[in-house]
Amino acid sequence: MKEDIIRLRQEHPHWTGARIASELGISRQRVNQVLLEAGIRTKRIAPCRFCKRCGTKLSESNLREFCNDVCKKEYSNVPLICSECDTLFWRRISSMLVYPFNEKTSTRNKKYIFCTKQCQGRFLGKGKN
Ligand SMILES: [Zn+2]
Ligand SMILES: [Zn+2]
Repeated sequence: MKEDIIRLRQEHPHWTGARIASELGISRQRVNQVLLEAGIRTKRIAPCRFCKRCGTKLSESNLREFCNDVCKKEYSNVPLICSECDTLFWRRISSMLVYPFNEKTSTRNKKYIFCTKQCQGRFLGKGKN
């Protein structure tokens, strides 16, 4: 069992103690204990990280998930063109689902998107006439 713990630690330096423990069906305390006794580091080595957007390798001091702010913005936002004023604007992907339309909003306007509520209002106002 000790050998298994040590082997897993060495084969999988990025695994946490908890991962090794669950792999062997033992407690994390046991894993730590064995590794300490063997003089092996109990903490995992942080894996290499890459920019989630462009794949550039991140330096160890870079604790973020992106190499720069542009990548961060482009990863979580999508460029959109306002249906009313043709302005290019960025919208968070997560908020795309709820803005500007949700289940309750009329399906007629689903293919349109607006930079601001003002533009949405203007667009809808035109439609009425
Ligand atoms: Zn990047
Ligand atoms: Zn607009």
